[in-house]
Amino acid sequence: MSRWARRFSTFSYRFANGTTFAANARSPGFEIFRDVSPLREYRKRLLLSNRTVGLVPTMGALHDGHLSLIQQAARENTDVFVSIYVNPTQFGVNEDLESYPRTWTEDMQKLQELDHKLASAASGRISAIFAPTTKVMYPTLPPSSEIDGKGSFVYITPLANLLEGASRPVFFRGVATVCMKLFNIVTPERVYFGQKDVQQTVVIRRMVKDLYVNTEVKIGPTIREPDGLALSSRNVYLGTRRRKVGLVLSASLREAEKKYLSGKRTREDILGAAHRIATAISKEQESLQPPQRAKFEVDYISLADPESLEEVDVVDSSKGAVLSGAVKMYPLEAPQPGEDCGLGGGTVPVRLIDNIILAPVP
Ligand code: AMP
Repeated sequence: MSRWARRFSTFSYRFANGTTFAANARSPGFEIFRDVSPLREYRKRLLLSNRTVGLVPTMGALHDGHLSLIQQAARENTDVFVSIYVNPTQFGVNEDLESYPRTWTEDMQKLQELDHKLASAASGRISAIFAPTTKVMYPTLPPSSEIDGKGSFVYITPLANLLEGASRPVFFRGVATVCMKLFNIVTPERVYFGQKDVQQTVVIRRMVKDLYVNTEVKIGPTIREPDGLALSSRNVYLGTRRRKVGLVLSASLREAEKKYLSGKRTREDILGAAHRIATAISKEQESLQPPQRAKFEVDYISLADPESLEEVDVVDSSKGAVLSGAVKMYPLEAPQPGEDCGLGGGTVPVRLIDNIILAPVP
């Protein structure tokens, strides 16, 4: 029996609710695809076997946020495809494309461990990793990060120009473009994105709706450290000092959320609370000497409509709102001998983003 034939031999799993579906009987292990044609062939066989594919797009450097999306995808599909690709067109010309963490060996290990767990649960499995080269993803022109760069791009405006897009003008053009390519290559029944990147979820939903992409967009919750810091592949650059001060963002958003939960609805009341916390922490850091402090700048704290992401002055309780923010952690001015300064020794600036959904109140 060929490797693929073995892979497609199936048996029935029974879900707790009594439904059954043909799931993969193979032992842990997945195919790694670097090119489009073999992946399409593999995907076609799954389709012909009535199996469903959930795609989890990532840039690698996997952490529990990614793994939780994969687990969700495995609960809702027979097969999970994970893409690992650091997409150049979503990095601006002055951004950290080269230094973005790349941890292939560790990633494969984490995926194998997770697939092992999935094998003993009544769920789908990780069956394919798509890790294309840039020549595969950008087959005609080299990927451009210039604002007026040439190439085939997907623009979702005005969403792409707000919030993160105001500071990172090519970011969502790159994200929408690479996701459209991935969706066209994999043709997944469902695609999985993390709440952590709220604007990305709104852009992708809009793209899928407006361009009639035949897939369902599913959003998984933000996974956090116990102290509230949202997990991110870039957190490895923070080090102890900046990591502690970086809590300013989640702490500020939580204060704002408290106001909403206590019945406040105006922008002033809700965001005022967030700005007070951010200002207090900023002043505290300014008052310290360079060997002790970690300076940062709040890029924005926003209270926006959940669909348009336009700023709101008063939250409509029937719609709720999105509280979101971004903070730039500056490089450490004076790293100390023996100090844990993170990858890059404290020299790499780190952009932190976070958000809280203010749920509609009936
Ligand atoms: P990235 O590799 O950073 O492009 O992220 C890949 C996917 O993982 C995106 O859908 C992110 O929103 C999601 N993700 C990243 N961090 C988290 C987190 N802390 N919790 C949940 N999802 C996350």
